Amino acid sequence: MIVMKPEATEEEIQHVVERVESVGAKAHLSRGEEVTVVGAVGDREHIARLGLEATPGVDRVVPILKPYKLASTQIRHEEPSVFEIGGRRVGGEHFALIAGPCTVESRDQTLETARIVKAGGGSMFRGGAYKPRTSPYAFQGLGRAGLRILAEAKEETGLPIVTELMDARDLEAVVEVADVIQVGARNMQNYALLTEIGRSGKPALIKRGLSSTIEELLMAAEYVLKEGNEKVLLCERGIRTFETAYRFTLDLTAVPVLKELTHLPVIVDPSHAPGRRSLVEPLSLAAAAAGADGIIVEIHPCPEEAICDAAQQLDAHDFERYAGKIEQAAAVAGKSISVAA
Ligand code: PEP
Ligand code: MN
Repeated sequence: MIVMKPEATEEEIQHVVERVESVGAKAHLSRGEEVTVVGAVGDREHIARLGLEATPGVDRVVPILKPYKLASTQIRHEEPSVFEIGGRRVGGEHFALIAGPCTVESRDQTLETARIVKAGGGSMFRGGAYKPRTSPYAFQGLGRAGLRILAEAKEETGLPIVTELMDARDLEAVVEVADVIQVGARNMQNYALLTEIGRSGKPALIKRGLSSTIEELLMAAEYVLKEGNEKVLLCERGIRTFETAYRFTLDLTAVPVLKELTHLPVIVDPSHAPGRRSLVEPLSLAAAAAGADGIIVEIHPCPEEAICDAAQQLDAHDFERYAGKIEQAAAVAGKSISVAA
């Protein structure tokens, strides 16, 4: 990590980037409020031999000791990443309220829900066209037809779309519609998929694997960041524990811990962990008050009839009230819900 002086000029920064690249390493620029940091990823010996400490504009050269480099707080001097997705700011004091059905089931169901999310002050719309189902006999999602419906929802409401990509062969089709590509918990360690998403440049929301550690989640993010894609959101969605009273244990400790370790925004999915509607709101409020940068929640206009995850989806008609409560909880942590400027 090459820390530039606050007064370093653009030429001096570019010169450092060129030097780093001259030994076959990759240079990642991270521009903070005060200083710019050049992250050099490559052979440590080769980079050390460049003697960058003595180069104009360079303040100091510091090794990043964590295995995740670009995701670490160190590279941004403890400043959180704030970036824009479809006109909404994410990170810092901007709270992303992402809501929508588990699955795109039909045009009516999807458009009705999207209108409710928009009217209720949501930040983005979620909905799966490709669904990772435990059973190969269960509904697998509408695929391309589902993506077309999501495109219509975006066209009508202007809400950015969050949707899952399971297979790199569908990347192009998903990129066309999605504002954020969701990587499901089961694919968190699909490194080829993460690399492709990194190369696509589309913002990514990476869900924590069912049995993955926080460090493994950060390493998954690193795969996307390494390709030069800086817009990565992390998502805690519940992990496997011995507890059987609910589906997964929502690890809310992960929220402040991740905030210590990474500058990336941390989102919480309060729906898939409990798997039960009555538990979704208290977990949502706890996540927002704990300092999460957003929530991705499942809502459906007629939850009992939902094709998948019927037991956990909130009634979409209750969304406005729910959003009001989230707004209050987020305010406790100093954040406000991000909507279009
Ligand atoms: C989802 O959000 O639609 C989903 C399948 O979640 P997860 O990958 O966390 O199980
Ligand atoms: Mn679901």
